[in-house]
This record gives sequence, structure tokens and C-alpha cells, in this order.
Amino acid sequence: MGKVYLTGAGPGDVELLTLKAHRVIGEADVIIYDRLANPEILEMAKDGCEFVYVGKEDGRHTLPQDEINEVIYQNALKHEIVVRLKGGDPFVFGRGGEEGAYLKERGISFEIIPGITSAISVPAYAGIPVTHRGVAVSFRVVTGHESPNKKESQIPWENFRTNDTIIFLMGLHNLEKISSKLIEIGKPKDFPCAVISKGTTKEQQVVVGTLENIKEKAKELPTPALIVVGEVVKLREQLEWFNQ
Ligand code: SAH
Repeated sequence: MGKVYLTGAGPGDVELLTLKAHRVIGEADVIIYDRLANPEILEMAKDGCEFVYVGKEDGRHTLPQDEINEVIYQNALKHEIVVRLKGGDPFVFGRGGEEGAYLKERGISFEIIPGITSAISVPAYAGIPVTHRGVAVSFRVVTGHESPNKKESQIPWENFRTNDTIIFLMGLHNLEKISSKLIEIGKPKDFPCAVISKGTTKEQQVVVGTLENIKEKAKELPTPALIVVGEVVKLREQLEWFNQ
């Protein structure tokens, strides 16, 4: 029986891979990967390494999660070193927890290799620090996948009145609903926000706006994209640094 490495691939820029991820990718007999992982990473594999694609295309799962779990398990029965490569960090909306639990129940040993999450690094490449002295003392990372209009929402919208920086992942298709909801709970219409598409890559695009106009400004942006809401967005004027 093999060992599975639930491995974070980082946000896009290949050099944001950890040394540990780089090592196991070079040792892997099979790499099971998804869309967000930069394909250049696969070139680091040894000769003869197999590749299995189980990713998502624009929100549509190629395989349901329970089948992905089974694919990982089956590969662990056949191979010595299995790398399950996931965009960003495996435990930040990556369902790495479900994969780990599935393997543990079946007696397969695994390791978690954390990755640099897009939630923090993508704003950084746009010159937006998620905390800043005197501006934001904390930040939240929230799923934007759930519509804010959903009854019995699991998201505590009322808590977002504080001045935390809020980072929404998977929220581009709900951008209008999210910004309206934040205005509804009392944030000013001209509150700063930004949408960053394909962050840390050559195709990075950043759109800065307000809760009121961000939908209009960001509607053409391609995924993956995340939304940053907070006064920290203004710091981009001083901190913008990345040019592709
Ligand atoms: N585990 C990942 C997140 C998975 S959810 C991580 O830690 O980064 C997928 C969401 O992440 C996307 O919908 C998008 O909101 C965000 N995302 C991932 N990579 C991104 C990138 N390069 N630029 C902008 N957003 C990104």
C-alpha cells in the first residue's frame, strides 16, 4: 500500500510551491490533479509518472467528490507514492479534509502538505495586504459559492459589519448578490472592494471599485477570481508592484 500526499500547489505562480511539495512531486508515481494547479508543475514529475485529471471546469465537477476519494484510494493500492495536488492550500475550500478522512478509514497513510492559499497571496500580488496596522486587525475567508439570498444561510452576514477584511472565494458568479447583501447589512455603497482574476499568473487582472459599481466593472473577468472587501483595498495605490 502506498502513501498519499495531499499537497497544496499554491495559487498559480509555480515558484510559490513549497520545497516539500516540489520534492514529493518529483518522487510521485502518480499525480492526481485539478484545474487550479499550474500545469507547469506536472513537468517536475519523474519519467513514467502517471497523471490523473479530476478537476473542475468552471464550477462543474468532472467527477463528484466521492468518486475523487475513490480514485485516490485505488491509486494508493497500486502505487507507492501518490500525490493529490490541489490549488492553493488543500484545506482552504479544497475538500482535503474529506479526502484525508476517506483514506484514514481505509487504513491508507497520508501526509498533508499545506500550500500558499490564494486567499492571501492573490491579494498580495495585487498590492493588497489582508491586514494593516490601523486599517484592519483581522480578515475572514468566506465561500462566495452560496447565494446570500439562500434561506438558512450558513454565512453569518450580520457579523460582517466589523471592519475585517473579507475575502470571498468562488464568488464571481454571485458578485452582485454579495455586494448588495453587504450594502443591505449597512456597509456604505462606496466601500472599497476589488476583484482579482488569475492572480499571481501572467494573466492576472485586478479591478478596483466600490460595492455599488464592482459588478459592472468586473463582469468580464475570467475565473478563477476572488473578491476582496475592505479599506485595505485602498493600499494598492501605494503597494501595487506586480507587473506581468
Ligand atoms: N484551496 C484553494 C481554494 C479553492 S476554492 C486555495 O487555498 O487557494 C477555488 C477558488 O479560489 C476560486 O473560485 C477563486 O475564488 C480562488 N482562486 C484560486 N486561485 C486563484 C487565482 N490564481 N486567482 C484568483 N482567485 C483564485
